[in-house]
Formats: sequence, C-alpha cells, structure tokens
Amino acid sequence: MPQWTQNPPADSPEYAFRIRRTPAAGKIEAYVTCTDVVGCNTHFLSNRTVPCEGPDCCQACADGFSYRWHGYLTALDAGTHEHFLFEFTAQSAETFANYAKLHAGLRGCRFKATRPSGRPNGRVLIQCAPADLAATRIPAPANVQKLLCHIWGIKYDPADVGRKTKSLGKDIIPTDAAAAVHRVADSSRLPSEESSRIGNGRK
Ligand SMILES: [Zn+2]
Repeated sequence: MPQWTQNPPADSPEYAFRIRRTPAAGKIEAYVTCTDVVGCNTHFLSNRTVPCEGPDCCQACADGFSYRWHGYLTALDAGTHEHFLFEFTAQSAETFANYAKLHAGLRGCRFKATRPSGRPNGRVLIQCAPADLAATRIPAPANVQKLLCHIWGIKYDPADVGRKTKSLGKDIIPTDAAAAVHRVADSSRLPSEESSRIGNGRK
C-alpha cells in the first residue's frame, strides 16, 4: 500500500528553488517569506554566479576577477505562487533594509521589482508594502544559505554559516562601480512541487 502524503518530504523541497532576478521588461511581484536578507560577494565565471570565498582563499580573487555583492531572499510570487530565491544588488538591499527597520523584519513584505528603463541591467526599482498576513498565508521561511549552497554545489554546514554571517551594513557592501555586470545562471531545477506546498504550513 502506498504511503500517501499531501506534501513532499520536509527535507527535500527546499532544493527545488530557483534564482530569479528582476526582468528587463515586466515585473516581479512577491511576498518575502524569510526574515532577513542573506548576501555575499560573488564572481561571475563561466557564465554563472559563484560565491567569493574571501581574499585569503579565493582562486577567482587570486586570478584577478572582480567581485560584486549580491543579496538573496526567499519570496512567494503573488501571481504564480512559485516560492523562489530573489537575487538583487546592494542598491535594492538598502530598500529592503529600510523596510525591515520600519516593520521589524522582512517577512510578509509585498514587493514589486521593476527596471523602469526597460534595459536588462537598468537600475532596479523596489516598491514595498506590508501584506495583510491575517488574510494571506505565506509559506514557512526557508533556509536561504542552504538553498544557495545547494545551487552553488557547496557543502552546507550550519556551524560555518553562523560563524561567517555578518549583519547587513554598508561596510560589507562593496561599491565597486567597475565590477562587471553579472548575470546569474538560473538553477536548472524547477520548483515543480512548490505550489502544492503553499498554505500547508510546512515547518
Ligand atoms: Zn573571490
């Protein structure tokens, strides 16, 4: 007899997330499901974004590649209900940081991300407003670091994350205007099972 369940196993669906950036045309409208932004310096190598491991031990840094800070948060698409990782730059991070200060955290923030210029690398405009969480049930927060480690093919170690995570502040956001414009290679994994999980209160 099959072991019927309404949801996929709790330890697997997080791996189904993909990374999305603000499109040149159109918009992303979504609810933030995590409490904090997670970011790190990244390199753009072989047509994909990879994390910089720090100037002392990073081969890409040693080879002279520029780096750029990227922030990530998990969000639920207001239209498709896809639960995904949203990638943004330091400029957008400031908007989210301001919102988090005003509203004691990011979870439940409904945001719209657009590029008013319509260009692929035009400035991103983030507009935020609190959602009515009594009427809108969003999924439980996902582990952003774990999702990113999976996408980047890096072993996830919770102890390591705790030791190396710094609070979001201007001091850790490089303003390297000369940094190359980066594009992230979307994860090839599709969020195939995500929509069935929404609203089911998975822990
Ligand atoms: Zn590096």
